[in-house]
Amino acid sequence: MAELYDLVIIGGGPGGYNCAIRAGQLGLKVACVEKGETLGGTCLNVGCIPSKALLHASEVYEGATHSYGALGIKTTGVELDLAQMMAGKAKTVEDLTKGIAFLFKKNKVDHLIGQGRIAGQGKVEVLLSGDKKSVLDTKNIVIATGSEVTPLPGVEIDEERIVSSTGALSLKAVPKSMVVIGAGVIGLELGSVWRRLGAKVSVVEFLPRIMPGSDAEIAKQAQRIFKKQGFEFHLSTKVTGIEKLKSKLKLSMEPAKGGDVQTLDADVVLVCIGRRPFTQGLGLEEMGVKADPRGFIETEHWKTSAPGIWAIGDCTHGPMLAHKAEDEGVACAEAIAGKAAHVNYGVIPGVVYTSPEIAWVGRSEEELREAGIEYRKGSFPFTANSRARANHQTQGFVKVLADAKTDEILGVHMLGPNVSEMIGEAALAMEFRAASEDIARTCHAHPTLSEALRQAAMGVEGWTMQM
Ligand code: FAD
Ligand code: NAD
Repeated sequence: MAELYDLVIIGGGPGGYNCAIRAGQLGLKVACVEKGETLGGTCLNVGCIPSKALLHASEVYEGATHSYGALGIKTTGVELDLAQMMAGKAKTVEDLTKGIAFLFKKNKVDHLIGQGRIAGQGKVEVLLSGDKKSVLDTKNIVIATGSEVTPLPGVEIDEERIVSSTGALSLKAVPKSMVVIGAGVIGLELGSVWRRLGAKVSVVEFLPRIMPGSDAEIAKQAQRIFKKQGFEFHLSTKVTGIEKLKSKLKLSMEPAKGGDVQTLDADVVLVCIGRRPFTQGLGLEEMGVKADPRGFIETEHWKTSAPGIWAIGDCTHGPMLAHKAEDEGVACAEAIAGKAAHVNYGVIPGVVYTSPEIAWVGRSEEELREAGIEYRKGSFPFTANSRARANHQTQGFVKVLADAKTDEILGVHMLGPNVSEMIGEAALAMEFRAASEDIARTCHAHPTLSEALRQAAMGVEGWTMQM
């Protein structure tokens, strides 16, 4: 008689592995099926972690070659060792993916390497290596199969000259010129990496602004800063084709509304126009699991339309972020264990790890205006923050948006140094439904960058005082 699992998870990314570990902690019998050789999914293998490793290393390199002089540090003979930079990134990825395998063992999660498919009610078929098959019996199935790159029609990604984020994380040489298609998170982050390492980076964006979805005031100031860094932007522009010549790529583009065709030459083109849910070959239709027209699995409290089948992470609605997938994984395991489970979708922070960084939580000014919500605003520039001045990192500002009647914080938006580490405070405040005055009257250590958040909160009542 085959073992009966409480849950079998298909996909070992942040959604799947956190769901598995939490289920193990709760004493459930759990297996996680992952087709890749390593755990961690997109995030650890070809996403968050390798991109942050290259962002950090390239920022240090740019500092050493361009800005340490202002701090009284003379550098000569600084050289890029790209192979070592890539090796450092690979080692971080390897260590972290092994860490998850260790956590699986510690929490008694069965790890199967193979392609999973739902083969009927309570049955997951796993195609193991060497064409062997195994069928797992389970009370619950969790789909955590993530997402894949959205292709650009007519453009074939070869991961060498025309690359997705995966290829852009492993280029063997710094291209002289790179064209990035899409001014979203990946375009700005990986564009920054290669610009810092010496490439001329041009960004082609269909919409009239960068970072659609983020607060417009922040995006506008960020674009100005990125332009000064050397990024070239072609907004409201669509790519109509890429010709692959022997020595270069020739990209044709025209205004989004139509007009004269222009061309741009590049050594490498990075296509990053979004990601789409990946659910192929799972047998979802046969099981009656409903998806929307764009392929996102529809869920209510992580339950799909088919009994005993749940879905979490990038393959379902909501922001395609590792921490969103992670929180859903934990909540889904807790719901399966019969516990109260909750994810606060209004308080999921977003971060773009450029320099300066962009971070936000809650609603933007545009969203509040559109919803007809009256709000008050306080903002504070990093030029007036003493720590930012001491560090010679004064670009950007913090903005706090609070309900005009109740003072509850509705959104916090930041552009500046290390704001990825500052947004957690705002998220915690919002989780506790804090008023802007709660932050304004909380003692913050001096001199810290976090004082800029306090000063912006003080600004809601008009009593900002720091210089
Ligand atoms: P995934 O991580 O995609 O994992 C799904 C897993 O399922 C994969 O390992 C896949 O192999 C496996 N799988 C699929 N089908 C099957 C099957 N049939 N059988 C077995 N296994 C299967 N997010 C952030 O929050 N912060 C960041 O800084 C960040 N940076 C990013 C940078 C890049 C370049 C990219 C591409 C993404 C980044 N993201 C970031 C997004 C983040 O990686 C995803 O939101 C996150 O990985 C989603 O987790 P998931 O578990 O839903 O899916
Ligand atoms: P994105 O949605 O952030 O940006 C895509 C951009 O491409 C948008 O600005 C869009 O208007 C533009 N676009 C779409 N079609 C186009 C076209 N035909 N021509 C020109 N521009 C076009 O997507 P992404 O940058 O590919 O990232 C994918 C996902 O990965 C995102 O959902 C993001 O959440 C996640 N991610 C997160 C992080 C992070 O949290 N720091 C980092 C990287 C990726």
